Order: sequence, then C-alpha cells, then structure tokens
Amino acid sequence: MNDQTNTWITAAAVGLINCHSCGLLHKATPVHSYCHRCGASLHLRKPDSLSRTWAYLLAAYILYIPANVLPIMTTTSLGSVQSNTILSGVNYLLVSGSWLVALIIFIASIFVPVLKLMILSYLAISVQVRSSWHPRERARLYRLAEIMGRWSMVDIYVVTLMVALVKIQGLADIDADIGTAAFGAVVVLTMLAAMSFDPRLVWDNAERNNE
Ligand SMILES: [Zn+2]
Repeated sequence: MNDQTNTWITAAAVGLINCHSCGLLHKATPVHSYCHRCGASLHLRKPDSLSRTWAYLLAAYILYIPANVLPIMTTTSLGSVQSNTILSGVNYLLVSGSWLVALIIFIASIFVPVLKLMILSYLAISVQVRSSWHPRERARLYRLAEIMGRWSMVDIYVVTLMVALVKIQGLADIDADIGTAAFGAVVVLTMLAAMSFDPRLVWDNAERNNE
C-alpha cells in the first residue's frame, strides 16, 4: 500500500478524545476531564508513554539475562541433584525424546519473549526518531505484540505442571528455582511496556510528515 496516497487526520487534531476504558468519544477540553460514562481519566495521549515504555523495556532486557542463566528448576532423583536453565531444559527434553514439549517451551520462553521485546523496541525507536514510515504496518505490529504476550506465560505453567506431576508420582523431587522469578518478571515487564506504549504516537508522526 502506498502511504503517499493516504491522507488521514488524528482524532486529537480535530479536538476529539476517546476513553481508554469504554471507548466513548468526547470533545477535548483544555482542562483535564473524566469520561462522562465510566468516569475514567481522559488523555489525548498516554502521559509519558515513551519514557515509561523505555524504562520497562530496559528492565526487561536486564532481567532477561538472569532468566536464561539461572536455573528454572532443580530435580533431585535418587540422590543426584540437577539444575536446569530454560535452554538446558529444552535440550534435556529434546534428548529424552519429548521434542514437541521442547519445541513448545522453546517458542514460548525464548522465541516469543525476544520477538516481543524486539517489536516493542523497534516501535519505541521509530516514534523516538519521529519516523513516518508505514504507520499502518507499525500499528499492526503493535497489535501482534499485544496478542503474543498472552502466550509467553506458558513456560511458567509448564514448570508448575511438571513440579506437580513429578511430585504426585513420587519418583523424584523437583522444585521451581530462582530463574522462574526472573522469567516471570521479564514477561510482566514486557506486558507493562506494551501497555505503556501509546500506538497513537505512530500516527502523530505520520500526520506531521503528511502536512
Ligand atoms: Zn469511559
């Protein structure tokens, strides 16, 4: 699609503001106002959207290191203790023949979180440098990142399930380890980064360069 042929205006440019919670459209007022229908605070753009997004992204990147380096679970079987990180766990599952579970864990705990972090970083950079490049595609990318985030907690469920299953069978003792906390924090921080990012900022720059 050719961006040159598209002419658009943002709601903000014509003095309209919509409610984050219920979507009701309001006329923008010079003073801070609240939604007539649900009472939520109204903002033309999410306040400090970009700096918040960067803060959450940075924290997520930092915690991504311990999430992958520290063990996510420790298995005690017949006196031998074994700690597994996400990657060594995937490797262990692969070697022991559970390639489907290994694949699911690899996609859910390595591929998806990294992809989501990269998409959000790209969007934040593009708004930061006031890019007007393909706003429609970037808006789609944002929705994709939002959808993906819902699946990255799968890993935590898998660890929890395995702990429960192994304990019931009584074959070995298995415990969730510190790495799961770091991993959980990465997932939550990425989710907060996605929530803080205001996709309308993408259109502001597109509109500015349209003029
Ligand atoms: Zn409302």
